[in-house]
Amino acid sequence: MIYQSTRNNNELVNSAEAVVKGIADDGGLYMLSDFSKLNFDYKSVLNLTAMETAEKILGALLDDFSAGQMKNMVEKAYKGRFETDELTPTVKVGNDFVLELFRGPTSAFKDVALSMLPRLMTEGRKMLSKENDTVILTATSGDTGKAALEGFHDVEGIKIIVFYPDGGVSAVQKAQMVTQEGSNVCVCAVKGNFDDAQTGVKNAFAAFKKSGITSVQLSSANSINIGRLVPQVVYYFTAYSSLVKMGEINVGDKINFVVPTGNFGDILAGYFAKCMGLPVNKLICASNANNVLTDFITTGLYDRRREFFKTISPSMDILVSSNLERLLYLLSDGDAEKVATYMKDLNEKGYYKVSDDILEKLQETFVAAYCNDEETLKTIKKVYDDNGYLCDTHTAVAFAANYLKPQEGKTVILSTASPYKFPVAVLSALGEDNIDNEFRVMDRIRALTGVPIPKNLAGLESKPVLHSCVIEKDEITDFVMKKVAEEKW
Ligand SMILES: *Cc1c(COP(=O)(O)O)cnc(C)c1O
Repeated sequence: MIYQSTRNNNELVNSAEAVVKGIADDGGLYMLSDFSKLNFDYKSVLNLTAMETAEKILGALLDDFSAGQMKNMVEKAYKGRFETDELTPTVKVGNDFVLELFRGPTSAFKDVALSMLPRLMTEGRKMLSKENDTVILTATSGDTGKAALEGFHDVEGIKIIVFYPDGGVSAVQKAQMVTQEGSNVCVCAVKGNFDDAQTGVKNAFAAFKKSGITSVQLSSANSINIGRLVPQVVYYFTAYSSLVKMGEINVGDKINFVVPTGNFGDILAGYFAKCMGLPVNKLICASNANNVLTDFITTGLYDRRREFFKTISPSMDILVSSNLERLLYLLSDGDAEKVATYMKDLNEKGYYKVSDDILEKLQETFVAAYCNDEETLKTIKKVYDDNGYLCDTHTAVAFAANYLKPQEGKTVILSTASPYKFPVAVLSALGEDNIDNEFRVMDRIRALTGVPIPKNLAGLESKPVLHSCVIEKDEITDFVMKKVAEEKW
């Protein structure tokens, strides 16, 4: 299967190379040019288990890996590592459905892709005969760091360094990261905010490239890598088959998905599913107060020149949604020149406006809505009072968008985190906010609602702290170069 850069029709790689490289040399993202060539029959996966469905879909989209390799990787990634063999169960809540993506090892939806990515990278490196180690650098605002650590720990040939903002993540998120075991992992706090950490990591990449070091290769675990996107396509199909099995829809009926969106990776995977033939009516893009995508989908103008808000749904606090570039590529029928121009405008001027034909195609599938923090809290309470279902702050944004823009047909709301990952906001939504220890807050939510605390979060407080380093923001490059030179961590 040939993937190409979204910014250059001549930069071509196969699917294994696309995963191993992560990003194209021209700064573009690797993309399939035409989904119709896959000839994928969605009906062929409706009666399969979640893992069998994953094998089929990953095999179709990344066809340079053999069926045997894919089966093996899927088993290693998922078997016994999620709360249920369904991996991502769909449950009925009121008249709608919730697709629970948080049943993995770190209780956030990023587990679905980050369990798989390390396997794809290792196998891809073998196929390309890469013998040097890969070092993954990740800056995190909380969720990605832990999910990446959990996915990459003790994976042969790969090491991982995670930087998080000192004092900028929740107590639960910090405890998840600093207690991480594994002989190839390193976790370090940075005195500064998330942007400082991310800028520091970008500088480290540049310094490394300049240094000419070849003993290791640097790579990234964020969603610009196609290997992080493809595993997310799977659960759109399993959600559809769940609705068929529940007798809620007939095969062929179109359904809607509401997706709490940040970097546009999750919702784009839904669009891939639609391009592969899954009967999808609308994809509803739900945003918090950082509503740049709501404006874009409504008007066609993407304008990042606006105030940045820190919200109670922090994984969606983002003004430049990287994966939108892939959607523009598809909607412009693979016009890489056009995409490159939009991206250049975004970089240099801070905005771009898409042509009318692209806007029209965009609105054929995408609908958008947003809500602020106050509405998010009210929604958690409403969903709980009306249906007895407790959701996290990100999922609540999706529920709110669904209330604002109801669509024809059945609707599935993607739930991206356990409510116990953001316990302080969730407890205050339920009407209490006078406890200051996050772990006590979890216990209080448990007592109030009876919803079990996920195992990986329950034992955290008593786990030994293994990573305690804190550095200044301008020390990131030196830190990386030093770690890269150390053979044994
Ligand atoms: C990352 C994340 C999102 C946003 O997903 P994108 O793929 O970046 O759009 C939403 N909710 C939670 C809890 C997340 O961790």
